[in-house]
Amino acid sequence: MIEIEIIPALSDNYIYLLHNKATKHTAVIDPSISQPVIDKLKEKKWELNQIINTHHHNDHTGGNLELMKIWNLELIAPLKEQNRISNVTNYVSHDDEIDIVDISSKVIETPGHTSGHVCYYLSNYDILFSGDTLFRMGCGRVFEGSMEQMKNSLNLLKNLPDQTQVYCGHEYTLSNAKFCVSLEPNNIKIYNEFQEISRLRKNNAKTIPFLLGNEKKLNPFLRFDDQSLKKAIGFEDKNETEIFKYIRNCKDSF
Ligand code: ZN
Ligand code: FE
Repeated sequence: MIEIEIIPALSDNYIYLLHNKATKHTAVIDPSISQPVIDKLKEKKWELNQIINTHHHNDHTGGNLELMKIWNLELIAPLKEQNRISNVTNYVSHDDEIDIVDISSKVIETPGHTSGHVCYYLSNYDILFSGDTLFRMGCGRVFEGSMEQMKNSLNLLKNLPDQTQVYCGHEYTLSNAKFCVSLEPNNIKIYNEFQEISRLRKNNAKTIPFLLGNEKKLNPFLRFDDQSLKKAIGFEDKNETEIFKYIRNCKDSF
């Protein structure tokens, strides 16, 4: 059995602790800073064994070194970002099967936000750590890859089962949902989701994890093939990349 602790950090980052109750092994996913991770480990009486990084940005790796000074750790990070993360012990590439707290996990390369970004999928537990590729009601900004790459990356995640629980890198959900309403003002399902998210955030509740099956129905960044979305934005004759690019550009200037 596993346990996941969600640690809010910086202004809107999430750090995750994944703990295997049987083997007592613990991993941290994307430690932006070290102190709240150290505090939570102490509170839970867990020892740290692994750091897992989705990409090189400092708000996902900034706590690596401090944690490595305290524990003897494996640091798992994408091979394609190899000169941009220090002290990596295990590089990973697309389709690699690795053990995260003794649970077999699949590496999915999702270039776009950064050129070597990866997500980690624990198929036996229906869990995805999506980093800054997929957010609830949104996706990451395309900094290093092309729009087509990011669209293809999201397509890979879209192929995962509906019951997948997604743990992403940031609490961007409310602003994402506002954008979704503006993009499709007549979509009642999106409006209802926006209402629910507003209620959660008003109470300072997390909107994470979220169900991939819902995202497939709501998130415009996973719906570049959806007729009703194409119609709403007047793009019925455009291809998937053009649609994705248009929505991403709208969001960037929202
Ligand atoms: Zn990032
Ligand atoms: Fe980030």
